[in-house]
Amino acid sequence: MIDAHAHLDFDPLSGDIQQVLARAAHQGVRAIVSAGYCPENMDKQVALLSHSVADVHVFIAPGLHPWAVSEHSDRHSLQTRLALLDSKLSALKSTPQFAHVCALGECGLDYYRASSNAERALHREAFLHQLALAREYELPAIIHAVKCHDDLLAILRDNPSPFGFQLHGYSGPESLIRPLQECGAVFSFGTPLTWKGQKKIKRALKDAYTHFPECWMLETDAPDRPVTQTNLEHGEPADLRHVVQSVSEVLDLDEDEVSTLSARNADDFFGLSRRMSRSIC
Ligand SMILES: [Zn+2]
Repeated sequence: MIDAHAHLDFDPLSGDIQQVLARAAHQGVRAIVSAGYCPENMDKQVALLSHSVADVHVFIAPGLHPWAVSEHSDRHSLQTRLALLDSKLSALKSTPQFAHVCALGECGLDYYRASSNAERALHREAFLHQLALAREYELPAIIHAVKCHDDLLAILRDNPSPFGFQLHGYSGPESLIRPLQECGAVFSFGTPLTWKGQKKIKRALKDAYTHFPECWMLETDAPDRPVTQTNLEHGEPADLRHVVQSVSEVLDLDEDEVSTLSARNADDFFGLSRRMSRSIC
């Protein structure tokens, strides 16, 4: 299995990283994509790479999350923060650890969080900046998108990238799967599939699996969004096993097949085996 989106640099995962990775390995997780929240956390992300546990490969993605963009009330301070992201990424590029950088993000638009036009404009500015950065560094972009579908679609159409876009924690309607896929998007589905109900997400998953079998993958988004089964306040990559179980019920596939197909898609999209120069699945 591959956890295509988590935040290993967040508490409480970062303080317990060896055990978190060991538990993930025990459940069969072979690689984890740890998405970035802000440039200030980048050193912590890079430090994750020094932990190696039983063949669980950690990959990182530097970025400025839309919630971090909302900490800014003016363009000037946002631009200063984006410049910090630029300079830290540029410094990372010349280190051996850059081989473990598999994407740019997470970036995107969150119009639930940003309610005013001014705040939404800052979200768009940071998003466009990072899409350009992803193309410059030849990386896919990891996208967080909430209540912004029209703008998201317009921006992806205007900013095509050969490296693609991962729409993480996809919870949009199935009707958007095709137009977004035509822009180069893949869809990552997560722990809400273990919750009660969630018919809309299940329909989207089925649509992606049926029409675009190479464009779906699975994630935990740990430590946020814990699975129902653990009854805990936070999640971790080991919980991906529960997501796989739920997906096997929705798609009527056996769990091994779900693990294999979703891992292959994540591996291909992020180029994980290529970055490691060997197979990780
Ligand atoms: Zn995330």
